[in-house]
Amino acid sequence: TAAAAEEPISPSVQVGETQLLINGKFVDAASGKTFPTVDPRTGEVIARVAEGDAEDVDRAVVAARKAFDEGPWPRMTAYERSRILLRFADLIEKHNDDIAALETWDNGKPYEQAAHIEVPMLVRLMRYYAGWTDKIHGLIVPADGPHHVQVLHEPIGVVGQIIPWNFPLLMYGWKVGPALACGNTIVLKTAEQTPLSALYVSKLLHEAGLPEGVLNIVSGFGPTAGAALASHMDVDKIAFTGSTDTGKVILELSARSNLKPVTLELGGKSPFIVMDDADIDQAVELAHFALFFNQGQCCCAGSRTFVHERVYDEFVEKSKARALKRVVGDPFRKGVEQGPQIDDEQFKKILRYIKSGVDSGATLVTGGDKLGDKGYYIQPTIFSDVQDGMKIAQEEIFGPVQSIFKFNDLNEVIKRANASQYGLAAGVFTNNLDTANTLTRALRAGTVWVNCFDIFDSLKNYLQVKAVVTALKNPAWL
Ligand code: ADP
Repeated sequence: TAAAAEEPISPSVQVGETQLLINGKFVDAASGKTFPTVDPRTGEVIARVAEGDAEDVDRAVVAARKAFDEGPWPRMTAYERSRILLRFADLIEKHNDDIAALETWDNGKPYEQAAHIEVPMLVRLMRYYAGWTDKIHGLIVPADGPHHVQVLHEPIGVVGQIIPWNFPLLMYGWKVGPALACGNTIVLKTAEQTPLSALYVSKLLHEAGLPEGVLNIVSGFGPTAGAALASHMDVDKIAFTGSTDTGKVILELSARSNLKPVTLELGGKSPFIVMDDADIDQAVELAHFALFFNQGQCCCAGSRTFVHERVYDEFVEKSKARALKRVVGDPFRKGVEQGPQIDDEQFKKILRYIKSGVDSGATLVTGGDKLGDKGYYIQPTIFSDVQDGMKIAQEEIFGPVQSIFKFNDLNEVIKRANASQYGLAAGVFTNNLDTANTLTRALRAGTVWVNCFDIFDSLKNYLQVKAVVTALKNPAWL
């Protein structure tokens, strides 16, 4: 694996708040307990964070309920809500580098990506949702008899949100933004691996004018704080992003308590299909990005690379060369493409999957081991000759491990791509319009990217339908 780039980047980095955010104030957990959050580069503790539990969730729900029932938030004009979200966006933008540095410290993602992609995207998300506040319209329905029928869109009430650690700030934005724009109040449980950035930006949100109790944050663990939130009798809805197994638990907890509606965004094992008419160099680069971006820790990662047999050998060779060029190292250095995995648990899990790939007979093309002896770094790894029945072909690895499969026929690859318990996303690489149209319709996935991958900008508003995003070959024409 290529050596890490040399030049260090040293932004100022501050831990910020570490307590729970309840009713507009930073407070200790009722139990007084704390838990460590670690730097994935070293495994060293960055800070100890207040550990919320059922009692804290209850305090937070009481505050959110009061803010919803009696506070100004659902009652103020949509324009005022919009102004607060816009001011929040401005404050995030002003502190872009500090926030990015904190995110890199707690999560391990390359600082350049945090500073140029994730934090600016959070700013754009907040401005986008700020624009929603006064554009939520109802509907008049023609009635059979002498009745006037209206459909009104109203806030749901107290919304519980549970998010994962792979994109802590984007997950925050995708959850908090729409819920606030619509006038709800929130109890958010961040992931135990990455509690810091949400606390940091939420302080800015209060500076921007958010009334107390509207957004409450309970840091803590899933089976305690998360489960208490999902089973709370006074929470009106749960929005969850995380693993499929935990998603099942959340639905069950809702069913056993007050049947609150649940939205789930879960795992993936997304196919990335390379046809023989594709530009191979571009396809190699894009398939590499689709899998390795964010240390492979993406729910929509293109984790099953299907390659047409006519270009298969060339594709595998070139993918190997690309993986060997990948710059892995300290995420606070310039030019680094890949930092450490999030924590020891994920690190060990990924190494177990690599071993399983080897044991089941897949060909280890490159990588296959940890990198260095400090922190949670893993070599960019590629398996070829992967068979559909193998564990690495079916389960979500959530790490820098690319699996390459061979196919020879369009109908065959459609069938194999769809033979998965997941259906989050898919990538298609072809220069043939007919093939592209066939695949975008035939693949059972919520988003299909054509000649591109991980393009999110236009998807903000289309989460419930199938989105097809096609890269334009001649953008200059526009
Ligand atoms: P990951 O593999 O990404 O860590 P999880 O589904 O375990 O996926 O975690 C996503 C979020 O769900 C985290 O905030 C975690 O604390 C929370 N969580 C985990 N287990 C539970 C549970 N039993 N009840 C509620 N929340 C949970």
